[in-house]
Amino acid sequence: MLDIIKNEFDKFKHSNCADDAIFFQAMEEVITSITPLLESDAKYKRYAILDRLIIPDRIIKFKVTWMDDKQVIQVNTGYRVQFNNSLGPYKGGLRFHPTVNEGILKFLGFEQILKNSLTGLPIGGAKGGSDFDPKGKSDFEIMKFCSAFMTELHKYIGPRMDVPAGDIGVGAREIGYLFGEYKKITSTYDGVLTGKPFIFGGSLMRPEATGYGVVYFTEAMLEHERKEPLKGKVCTVSGAGNVAIYTIEKLQSLGAIVVSCSDSAGTLYDSRGIDLKLIKEIKLEKRASLEEYLSVNRAANYIPVADYPDGGHSVWAIPCYAAFPCATQNELTKVDADNLIKNGCVSVSEGANMPSTPEATELFLSHKICFAPAKAANAGGVSVSEFEMSQNASMQKWSFAKVDEKLKETMQQICKRIALTAKDYGVEGNYIDGANIAGFKRVADAMIAEGI
Ligand code: NDP
Repeated sequence: MLDIIKNEFDKFKHSNCADDAIFFQAMEEVITSITPLLESDAKYKRYAILDRLIIPDRIIKFKVTWMDDKQVIQVNTGYRVQFNNSLGPYKGGLRFHPTVNEGILKFLGFEQILKNSLTGLPIGGAKGGSDFDPKGKSDFEIMKFCSAFMTELHKYIGPRMDVPAGDIGVGAREIGYLFGEYKKITSTYDGVLTGKPFIFGGSLMRPEATGYGVVYFTEAMLEHERKEPLKGKVCTVSGAGNVAIYTIEKLQSLGAIVVSCSDSAGTLYDSRGIDLKLIKEIKLEKRASLEEYLSVNRAANYIPVADYPDGGHSVWAIPCYAAFPCATQNELTKVDADNLIKNGCVSVSEGANMPSTPEATELFLSHKICFAPAKAANAGGVSVSEFEMSQNASMQKWSFAKVDEKLKETMQQICKRIALTAKDYGVEGNYIDGANIAGFKRVADAMIAEGI
């Protein structure tokens, strides 16, 4: 990292709160990556691009008051971090999870700027959410919370201003309730949220987009780096939510053998290959624990080869050719990376946002593992969100095949752009530096062109 930037960064770090640790982790990685670009072109320093980029345009923080089924009044905190709109309207998901705080949303919003830039599409970066925990809440409670959340959020969003989407804890059901409330308050019917159910303006393939995109990116990366297909290869996946499920689906459709997934209570291992139909039933329909997978298998007199050791997140101890962390941030540590490498893993693709710790990432790079960073690998979700905005604006409905084709093309282009950028800056094969430089450059050039 350049000394002058390091000094400014340290000053900035000390003036902020402990919740920002994860935000600094993301920023430090980006700043280290883009140092060759900053050293080679003085205009980025002259226009103070970095100083301007690391501070969000604005952070909106608000109170969300709602009443639960027992008529008890509950209070949560809501946020929207509008980070940068140089390339287009603010765009990024909403997360409902008890761990949500300003620091996590700043980290996710900052990553979102570069991710959205990498897609080549006209979208800026933002993130939002609440510390509300949807787990164990009735459908009615979810609806009441979403309505209360939108009562405040609607003042700051709009189809040309800021277009939120889903993330952890926010799927089509929550987007539906949020959209319904927005419509009621504003008397407008426009594409202010993406990830809507298809019946009222959603795009076909949005649920599948992030997971399918991760696999399209990985296919392209493995073809470029190793000339190898995924067909017949053993793969491990963590998580059992939206991203994990559709990563598994696409991998299976390409003939890969996916032997694991996980949830917050444990890891499921099935050497026969995961029964995805059953996982969808348990996680998407019943919203239950993966442990049910075992009881269903036992009842059907299957050979009990599946295992679910609870209380432990042990996906990365399972030998595989390619690993797909799709649960949450910092879930893959140095010990996990070491296990993966020892067991012969050659490729890691981040479906979740920043699931690998910096130490794990370093180990992957030093062992020449093909490593697809989140801001590139999981950009399929936001790409299809932008396709949804285009469809809403033109009142069109694209077919599943058209969206799929455009998604695949977008992921292949991102992969190519990153590989070429890495080569241009003397770090061939390093997809982290390639992604950070390519993503930063497009935003920075737009900021310079738009003046201060
Ligand atoms: P979901 O809420 O649908 O699923 C998250 C899954 O991960 C759940 O199964 C959850 O378990 C599991 N999980 C959470 N924490 C842990 C943990 N510590 N160990 C093991 N499993 C865990 O979220 P998404 O699939 O939408 O998002 C996953 C990640 O992908 C996040 O980092 C998100 O920011 C990122 N992402 C999502 C996009 C999208 O389109 N949805 C787009 C781009 C990035 P449980 O079922 O028990 O809660």
